Amino acid sequence: MLLSISDEIATVKNLPPKLDSTTRRANGLKAVAARRERADIKRKLKGGELELRALLASESNAKDRMLVVELLESLPFIGEIRARELMERVGISPRRRIAGLGIRQRERLLELIEKNPSRKLLSTLGGVSGSIYGRLFVISGPGGVGKSTITQELNRFDDFFVSISVTTRAPRHGEIDGVSYHFVSREDFESRIANNEFMEWAEFAGNLYGTLEREVHEMRLRGKHVVLEIEIQGARQVRKRHPEATLVFISPPSWEELEARIRGRGSDDDSRIAQRLALAQEELAASDEFDLVLINTEVAEVVKRLVALATS
Ligand code: 5GP
Repeated sequence: MLLSISDEIATVKNLPPKLDSTTRRANGLKAVAARRERADIKRKLKGGELELRALLASESNAKDRMLVVELLESLPFIGEIRARELMERVGISPRRRIAGLGIRQRERLLELIEKNPSRKLLSTLGGVSGSIYGRLFVISGPGGVGKSTITQELNRFDDFFVSISVTTRAPRHGEIDGVSYHFVSREDFESRIANNEFMEWAEFAGNLYGTLEREVHEMRLRGKHVVLEIEIQGARQVRKRHPEATLVFISPPSWEELEARIRGRGSDDDSRIAQRLALAQEELAASDEFDLVLINTEVAEVVKRLVALATS
């Protein structure tokens, strides 16, 4: 075979020969498809749609190339610390890929994960061993999409607790302090920030909103699945602080439907409606950052999915 000069140079230097543009494009497309497949696997694991045991037994090449740690961290109950702990216990090196796992290691890993993960998580968090530590869900989505209706429905289940946020916003008609929100002054809110009381907090439409870390922890210790109905900046903070949380984005069936709901509220003037619509567009663009996107066509269906997720 005749080599071109540039290929010869590549061979001499031990570099791969240059690829022609068609091969390069085909490789690029393959890489994109593989990345998508990996992202899909992670999303399904996190959302409880796919079980680790089934994934490991599958033929998927994409999963074989994934790092063990990456896969473990995608599981709903497992964050960085717990993934590391599990791998150490099974003797898996930090950079090992799925394809490099021995049969015994696979089995041991599955055994440890399937043996009530929430109990294990509790001990890594320093809680009381033996009781079940509840899960943490974040529900976000554009204003008008129906998040509150969904969380109110979830609150009717004994196993769920919808967190009561602290806010500097004034109570609206019918809202009760300690039930709808803990209504506080800006000064009070700021001193809580200084005391590091918040799991997350954010400013939204000129008011401060935050979730109390301690309240959430106590509810989870009692075995309740805690639901935070918060805006997106807050969701991002929870993701960092509690990687085991499941972030759910509630999406409208269509933009037209959301627009109709926002316009139909009746309480806003034109400029406020325009502001709400612009904000809704920004919020919709962040849906990719979430573990799961549920389209709110019917509240009962969304609630059913969330309950199934919590009990899976
Ligand atoms: P509203 O004033 O209409 O009750 O709430 C305004 C926005 O603040 C909503 O998107 C709601 O989800 C969000 N929100 C409520 N509580 C919290 C909280 O504790 N933290 C964050 N980051 N957002 C919150």
